Amino acid sequence: MKLAERMSRLGTETAFEVLAKARMLESEGKDIIHLEIGEPDFDTPSNVVQAGVEALENGHTHYGPSPGLMEVRERIAEEVSQTRGISVTADNVVITPGGKPIMFFSILALVDEGDEVLYPNPGFPIYESMIRFVGGVPVPMKLPESRDFNVDVEEVASQITPRTRLMILNSPNNPCGSIIEKREQQELADLAKEHDIMVLSDEIYIRFLYEGQHHSISSFPGMRERTIILDGFSKTYAMTGWRIGFGVMPQELVEPISRLSTNSVSCTASFTQMAVLEAMQGPQDDADSMVAEFKRRRDIIVNGLNRIPGIRCAMPKGAFYVFPSIEGTGMSSREFADGLLEDGGVACLAGESFGEYGKGCVRFSFANSAENIEAALERIERFVSERT
Ligand code: PLP
Repeated sequence: MKLAERMSRLGTETAFEVLAKARMLESEGKDIIHLEIGEPDFDTPSNVVQAGVEALENGHTHYGPSPGLMEVRERIAEEVSQTRGISVTADNVVITPGGKPIMFFSILALVDEGDEVLYPNPGFPIYESMIRFVGGVPVPMKLPESRDFNVDVEEVASQITPRTRLMILNSPNNPCGSIIEKREQQELADLAKEHDIMVLSDEIYIRFLYEGQHHSISSFPGMRERTIILDGFSKTYAMTGWRIGFGVMPQELVEPISRLSTNSVSCTASFTQMAVLEAMQGPQDDADSMVAEFKRRRDIIVNGLNRIPGIRCAMPKGAFYVFPSIEGTGMSSREFADGLLEDGGVACLAGESFGEYGKGCVRFSFANSAENIEAALERIERFVSERT
């Protein structure tokens, strides 16, 4: 079959491919520990599930408005105003099935062919995929392991041209776990204003912060007018399969982004919106204890990996991933990830799945039980000692 030419420019998210391969190996009887996929191993809090069930029983089973239900948009606006120290209203909010469509829609709405887009590399693979898909030019903001995965603002400044249209930030970062500190956020904001660049600030891991404070670039003077905040409920409330997220954006973007929604998904399911209303308004204990548990696991995995010869692992400040360098083992990250899955029984992702500057590293998610992480560490150690 002849596919449209643009499909050759559309990438993918390797996590889903590795998950499929791991499941196939499992169906052949192999025992695999899953450290590849980025989703909490917890269940959605029961009060949230209950709210979803009640919403279904009460008839929230119809089409709704493309930008989302007004009462849910209002609550999101309150929450975002409070957590980011900004003032936004329901008129700035678009609710989507997951946070991902906000990437898709923002890039479609803002980037013309030939426009340049700064994006984190290593970074979430969909940014680069979407930039290429729309004919934009991806310009990597390098986050090298040698710099503890931190952004170099001077380097970014040198990459800006008259064609730079959009800057994508992700703090806390997937896959590196690094955060963008306040000073760097301020400097990046100054660059965005000086060069008239829009910003897509992916803040989906805002609640998974183990050190330091979250600073949203939207909170600097003059930035609310040029920032789209991407956030959602998949991670915070363990709701990955419900598919609900949102964008908070300048008001003039709400209509075009909603129109993209009308043209694709129509709207986000109403019962999931009623469920997240409860998630935001109800008790936060489950979400808080999940983060505390992830912090405990982070320490276990970082310490365990650093004990393995050839592996060097930085302590992530946020999100739920570690991104260790495995160069000392003599293997490429692809060899390491493939071999570890097939021979070692642990699924992880090769660093280049997150862009070319991820080479030499692999990503392990610690969204798995402490017991499984300990068992995985033993398997990794055995695998490395057999291969080196
Ligand atoms: N942004 C980042 C950095 C992510 O890691 C993910 C999911 O892995 C998303 C956005 C998308 O999340 P959602 O499941 O809400 O679409």
